[in-house]
Amino acid sequence: MIGWAPMKTLRERFESKVDRSGECHIWTAYRDCRGYGTIWDDGPKMAPRTAWKLEHGEYPEGLCVCHTCDNPACVNPDHLFLGTKGDNNRDRSAKDRTARQIGEMHGQSKLTESQVADILRLYAAGGVSQRALGEAFGITQAHVSDIVNGKCWSHLQPIIEGAKQAADASQRTQALIGQGGPQ
Ligand SMILES: [Zn+2]
Repeated sequence: MIGWAPMKTLRERFESKVDRSGECHIWTAYRDCRGYGTIWDDGPKMAPRTAWKLEHGEYPEGLCVCHTCDNPACVNPDHLFLGTKGDNNRDRSAKDRTARQIGEMHGQSKLTESQVADILRLYAAGGVSQRALGEAFGITQAHVSDIVNGKCWSHLQPIIEGAKQAADASQRTQALIGQGGPQ
């Protein structure tokens, strides 16, 4: 057995990262660029989902945990409800704006520019899923999706364009070599 130490429970780790001084219970640890808290629970998970899970048990697959309070950093179970993706999308345009502003104001992203650049390059090179990248960098798949779709760190987007072109060029080269190569 190697360096074994008693693990804190998910609830203990969760509770230690919540500020309950206001009506909204604010996630004080890592938040993604949309302002949603992230906690490790067999992979990076969104803290509001974990809040729901600790309060009510597992949530049904395919449903989203939505906020009545428009505060993505909030994990107060009283402010969370289960909705369909449709409910979530309807709310999103307004909420996205808020979330982005919160993310920027608090400089929440702990990824460095070079890590984001690596994510963009790896994703552009292909063969790796957003989920796998998220696990490698300790962020949620949703956060990876926002990065590669330019919702976060959009000033680094030229990297992904460059990497895509490089990947295309190398594929074309390989195709040419393949065609012209020894039989
Ligand atoms: Zn709230």
